[in-house]
Amino acid sequence: MKGLISRFLKGDIRACSRLISLVENNASLDDDALKDVYKKMGRAHRIGITGPAGVGKSTLIEKLTLRFKRDNRRIGIVAVDPTSPFTHGALLGDRIRMQKIFLDPDVYIRSMATRGALGGLSLKTTEVCNILDAFGKDVILIETVGVGQAEFDITQAADTILVVLVPESGDAIQALKAGLMEIGDIFVINKADREGADRILEEIKGVLDFSLPKDGWRPMVLKTSAISEEGVEELYKRVNEHKRFLEQEGRFEEKKKERIKNTILDYMKSALYEKIEGNQETAKLLNRFTQEVLSGNITPLKASQELIKEVYGRD
Ligand code: GDP
Repeated sequence: MKGLISRFLKGDIRACSRLISLVENNASLDDDALKDVYKKMGRAHRIGITGPAGVGKSTLIEKLTLRFKRDNRRIGIVAVDPTSPFTHGALLGDRIRMQKIFLDPDVYIRSMATRGALGGLSLKTTEVCNILDAFGKDVILIETVGVGQAEFDITQAADTILVVLVPESGDAIQALKAGLMEIGDIFVINKADREGADRILEEIKGVLDFSLPKDGWRPMVLKTSAISEEGVEELYKRVNEHKRFLEQEGRFEEKKKERIKNTILDYMKSALYEKIEGNQETAKLLNRFTQEVLSGNITPLKASQELIKEVYGRD
């Protein structure tokens, strides 16, 4: 493990991949060696890109990556979106389309296994980003499908959140319903080469005008056409502007601390869950209490308190 960490710290990309796999698979790691990794993190700008499937998130990520590279930024891409060309299911066509970054040794692409990871996905994604951050990536782009399910909370993993929509009718309304409206720092109407882009732009502006600023930041909306790169420069500027805003307000540091707190809490939750779920004594008691509740001898709340006492020996 010490050897792996020292290769990691020297910038060995294979050591980085290996470390990510170990963390992803909950391998028991040498904490002493791993401390050095956490000490190094904290610089990277973590940008979440979310929106329904097919709106052009991956295309935008490709263009943003190329733009960041022009400024010599080192990029990591984490795809949590199972439909993304960046994930294992990528079609050959997608890979060819994106070969500029797929084949770029300076761009590290990692896809997250989403199946069976619900709930723990946010923790795992944050940890993968932590490792890439410590590895020296300046920018980490996190792609997720935003369909409004609470299965993945991107707000925890990212500093800046881009919500990507398209001009087709209904998207804005859907986004409102799905709660995407509250999480976006920057709204992107992609495929602006299609009809209706201005209408949806105005619609979103209207909603944003009535919403409160997010920690002092007024969310904004802009149009892009990722394919022709129109609007990408403007988006790039806005993304950097948001980072500067966070830094000036001290929010960048705060978010970092919040993320670490949440990571600790998430590890606690999963450890507690395992302790409760995997314990035969608890299972027996649970069965007994279920019966007691049905018989009217105890309430579920009281039963849970009794169980906690049993498991931990105290309140
Ligand atoms: P994702 O599922 O959100 O990652 O979307 P993709 O990036 O895979 O794009 C889905 C499809 O939309 C692809 O065929 C892209 O070529 C196309 N696409 C992406 N951006 C644009 C755009 O600005 N205009 C148009 N017309 N098509 C686009």
